[in-house]
Amino acid sequence: MLLDLRTIYVVSAMTCLVLGCAHLAAYNTGRFGRWPAWWGASNLLVGMGTVLVSLRGFVPSFFSLDVGNVATIAGYLLMFFAVRIFAGRSVDGRRCGLVLACISLPVLIFTIDPTAVSARIFYVSVVCCLCDLAILRETIGIYRREKSFAAWLFAWLYVPTAVMFFIRSLLAATGVIGGPDVFGSSPVHSWMATTAVVFIALRSMVVVLMAAERSTNELMELAHHDPLTGALNRCGLAQRLPLQTSLPVAVLAIDIDHFKQLNDLHGHVVGDDVLKLFAGVVRNVLRPVDLLSRQGGDEFLAVLKDVSAEGAVATAEIIRSAFSVAVSRVPELAVSPTLSIGVATSAQPTIDFEQLLREADEALYFSKRQGRNRVEAFVAQEHAA
Ligand code: GH3
Ligand code: MG
Repeated sequence: MLLDLRTIYVVSAMTCLVLGCAHLAAYNTGRFGRWPAWWGASNLLVGMGTVLVSLRGFVPSFFSLDVGNVATIAGYLLMFFAVRIFAGRSVDGRRCGLVLACISLPVLIFTIDPTAVSARIFYVSVVCCLCDLAILRETIGIYRREKSFAAWLFAWLYVPTAVMFFIRSLLAATGVIGGPDVFGSSPVHSWMATTAVVFIALRSMVVVLMAAERSTNELMELAHHDPLTGALNRCGLAQRLPLQTSLPVAVLAIDIDHFKQLNDLHGHVVGDDVLKLFAGVVRNVLRPVDLLSRQGGDEFLAVLKDVSAEGAVATAEIIRSAFSVAVSRVPELAVSPTLSIGVATSAQPTIDFEQLLREADEALYFSKRQGRNRVEAFVAQEHAA
């Protein structure tokens, strides 16, 4: 079936213009960062360029050829910068302008001879293909860092178009497309243009999905962590606790000794610094599979996976002495806070965390009663006595 290429160009241009306006409106709310401005500008440029190209024969060729093609290719390049900004990479405005000029202006060389349509299509297709591959690379980076499903989907959307632009450049180089009458050309060209419209719309939707997924992840991160120390909060810990495991698990209930006195003597800012120092020390000792949560005030819990009772006590001792060393390096502290730690372990296949917590707490308060700055493992009879 032969589709009318000029109509497809007009539909494509309208789609880009509407999407561009929507993204600029989103940017205007100030809630989405800078990337929608770049993405919107990219869509507007591609839309404007495509409108002008579709008006060939109705407006002077300076507009339909020169301005139209330069705008289209500059818009396509701008999409790459939008994705770079989304990825959190720096984009220098001046350098970006220089790149846009160096890559889009050569299109003018091909417009000197208005009949050299094939050469122009070839150049534009090669640039667009490279641009798609660069965006694909950038998006794979986002996917790897954020483990985002939308980023994975977004990356895949650039594969077919990169292939399509590559084929289009081959067809232009061999003269299959791009005769003197560009709108009377082959069905292949028409179908490629139709596919491009679909991808333009899809990408604009998925980039929004990507931003939404990122926001949700950031909110979850905030909802599950203590902002001061970066440790999990109660909710975050509850989400990550292993309920069924064949491996032994240990809980360390940790409390900073005489922390109130430290606050009273040095103020809450120094107290906050000691809490952060503590969390840093513990993170250095724990393995990536272990968990650290702040239960409130100066009370913390560490959950160690696949560890024996002796191993858990040894880890608690390492934390206690590493914290002492770290605190001793803080200048001008009138009191050196220490740690009391209670340890409870379970080797049951189904873990009763409530019970384990109670036991670790009991061991902690036993260590407080024994004079603080020590590690105590839960032993039922001993602590009951
Ligand atoms: P103990 O040796 O028995 O544990 O005595 P303590 O002085 O550490 O007493 P306690 O654990 O009851 O005191 C905890 C203090 O922690 C009381 C509160 O003012 C302080 N605190 C709670 N949250 C914060 C915080 O976010 N920052 C700071 N700087 N202090 C906090
Ligand atoms: Mg305390």
